[in-house]
Amino acid sequence: MDYELISKIKDNIDIVEFISKYIPLVKKGKNYFGLCPFHSDNNPSLSVSREKQIYKCFVCGEAGNVFNFIEKYENVSYKEAIKIVGNSVGILTTEIKIENNKNQVYYDMYDLANKFYQNNLFSNLGTEARDYLEKRKLDFDTIKKFKIGLSLNNNDSLYNLLLKKGYSLEQINNSGLVRDNHDIYINRIIFPLNNVNGLINGFSGRIYHGENLNKYLNTSETPIFKKGENIYNYFNAKEETRRKKYVILMEGFMAVIRASTIGVSNCIATMGTSLTKDQIGLIKRLTNTVYLCLDGDNAGVNATINNGKLLLDNNLIVKVIPLTDNLDPDDYIIKYGKEKFLSLIDNPMNYEDFKIRRMKLGVNFNSSEELASYVNNVLEEISLVNDEIKKEIMLKNLAKETNVWYNTLEKKLNELLSKKQISKNNLVLPVKKKKDKYVKTLEFIIYYMLIKKEVITLVENSHVYFPIDDYRKLSLEIINYYNKYGVINISNFLDYMENVQELKPILKEIISLDLDDNVSNQTILDYLKVINDYNITLEIKRLEQMIMNEVDPIEQAKISNKIRNLKMGSENND
Ligand SMILES: [Zn+2]
Repeated sequence: MDYELISKIKDNIDIVEFISKYIPLVKKGKNYFGLCPFHSDNNPSLSVSREKQIYKCFVCGEAGNVFNFIEKYENVSYKEAIKIVGNSVGILTTEIKIENNKNQVYYDMYDLANKFYQNNLFSNLGTEARDYLEKRKLDFDTIKKFKIGLSLNNNDSLYNLLLKKGYSLEQINNSGLVRDNHDIYINRIIFPLNNVNGLINGFSGRIYHGENLNKYLNTSETPIFKKGENIYNYFNAKEETRRKKYVILMEGFMAVIRASTIGVSNCIATMGTSLTKDQIGLIKRLTNTVYLCLDGDNAGVNATINNGKLLLDNNLIVKVIPLTDNLDPDDYIIKYGKEKFLSLIDNPMNYEDFKIRRMKLGVNFNSSEELASYVNNVLEEISLVNDEIKKEIMLKNLAKETNVWYNTLEKKLNELLSKKQISKNNLVLPVKKKKDKYVKTLEFIIYYMLIKKEVITLVENSHVYFPIDDYRKLSLEIINYYNKYGVINISNFLDYMENVQELKPILKEIISLDLDDNVSNQTILDYLKVINDYNITLEIKRLEQMIMNEVDPIEQAKISNKIRNLKMGSENND
């Protein structure tokens, strides 16, 4: 690691100003606070310290220096983060080599394939495909923006090109582009798919003359393409999503492309009907609000309800943009135009209201039985809402709509809620493992080692053994760092620890502790004594076990002598 370059970049950066560009920060006391982007935060719990040049979140435990922030926020490697931060202050970081990814060869192949397909589209052989795209109202700029291309037949195969470029047969066959020496994509319009960093990692090929059962052909799983880990347009929608503070989730990539033609650029697509855990994690990195704009048909409505629930369960805010006439966003925009679609986005529906509207379909309000069952279903739905005001509004609407007395509905709802409370209390929830006293004590000591060099000296001179491996290793790293540089600085220590990845989680956890930075030497000595006594207790236990297994009375006496000395020693220390 080039520490000289790293410190040059850091000298030009103030973490408070830097993070302010991403998250609004407000000064409170010595530190600055903002909403933590790494968990769904309603109450500013991210604290940024100008003095220490670090950030930490008291709730989710995320912590680090300016590079770690970008690493996490932009989902890039540490080295890429150095580049991004360096470039932001005009420091060239060309000397930082980002290790060659073992899958780089596949990204190169997809990049080459995409260029090849794009060329085809604008060649003489691409006339028919270009006509087709024009008919589908995809203009030149859109074709370029989404890098749309064309695959031809086997006379002009990608396979030959890949061979010519020197890729091995094994690589070619593992790429998902070729099977048995034949191109997989033949006579299809090619839409490239990108990974979260914007690299092409797959294709979706659409037939453009005639109809066929397999209208779309998607890349199969390859070393760089895993279904369910990808989100269409994720990389390109990032900036606009952060600006608008919500993302629009669609089903297919054509919807996303269409929305972009009318200037709506914060759209992404799942490329499947059900959201996966990985996809939800990716969405959470962008925003905490999702507008679901799935197809208007039955399947789309069901997917809206199911995906909405998944997103809510993951603490995201969910709104719905319902489309009429069974249309998908692509056809909807073509049929009704830009203004109409924009007004839908400006007035999204609450997810709960969308669900209730769905329940109401086909209910005969003249039948008391059907009405009662409808009321019960809606009450069940309202009982899931967390917001008290929202609950009341929904209850009022239900009363008005069904002519059932408000108080009756309220009573019924409260019954439901108390029943839920009971079953909730009976659930065995996985409780966050409570840390034992000694782990906490070690964390305290290490926290102060990180901010006060006097504490490092106290620990070193005490010769107290840290009984838990990771904590011992971490304390030794701090001591080594201090002996090498003569100072301790958390921000720089984090860079130093990049080579000791396995200790980073506990390091972050310790940094994010909410402790008073002022501590007396006596307190540290008290903490060290707690650990020392613990070691002695462990040793006594071990010796007592030995006595039990020892048959020789002389040996037994020796051991019990040792135990007595240990017990006395520990008392003398009081
Ligand atoms: Zn957090």
